[in-house]
Amino acid sequence: MLLKEILDRARTENRTVLTEIESKQILEEAGIACTETQLARTRAEAVSLSESFGYPVVLKISSRDITHKSDAGGVKVDLKNKAEVETAYDDIMQSARQKFPQARIEGISVQRMASKGIEVIMGMTRDPNFGPVLMFGLGGILVEVLRDVAFGIVPLENKDAAEMIDEIKGKKLLEGYRGQDSADKSCLESMLLRLSAFVDGKREIAEIDMNPVFARSDGAVVVDARIILTGPTQPVQS
Ligand code: ADP
Ligand code: MG
Repeated sequence: MLLKEILDRARTENRTVLTEIESKQILEEAGIACTETQLARTRAEAVSLSESFGYPVVLKISSRDITHKSDAGGVKVDLKNKAEVETAYDDIMQSARQKFPQARIEGISVQRMASKGIEVIMGMTRDPNFGPVLMFGLGGILVEVLRDVAFGIVPLENKDAAEMIDEIKGKKLLEGYRGQDSADKSCLESMLLRLSAFVDGKREIAEIDMNPVFARSDGAVVVDARIILTGPTQPVQS
């Protein structure tokens, strides 16, 4: 139901890229855990949301025209009190307006700060031959520079999800390399399976990008997400 509402609104507004808040709402509904996130339209609202979440919090620019929020100076993490939230709010607004003067800004999203984990990415793209394909990899430069990602065709079976996680070259990092915490692999597997179940047959969804997901020994949580809808005239493989 929520998905349909968000889709209808995006279509009326002629956009195919959903905001982080919308994307996380949809993923939550699909059973995929995301950091709790809400939109603040004023500085005072940002403070009251922060107080209701409890510090530390994260503030991010929310604009349909800004997809790479960090590039816009639009992400402030580990804000520990009211004063830090107020300063971050003003800094983010100022920086976004300066770097993207044309951007329509909905407000600033306030979210719980996720405790550190191993940064991984998960996503979905559409392949002209195979249809929806899921992707899993380590986050950050390991994905960008080394292209250390594994793919799986939807619908994923249990063993496919385990194989995808096992396939990446950097999988040792997930197993607790040099005293670092390990990641809960079965939780990552079930996230991939839920993602597969969710996208299966949903032609209206063109792409999903969860970057990063924090993987910890006690679970995993989506920290940033973007969903792209299929355009009205775009052909799609189911
Ligand atoms: P971008 O649009 O630039 O990709 P992100 O939302 O991914 O912005 O934020 C940039 C980085 O900030 C993330 O890679 C992550 O390390 C950190 N971060 C973002 N949100 C949170 C959060 N809720 N808790 C902890 N860290 C976060
Ligand atoms: Mg991101």
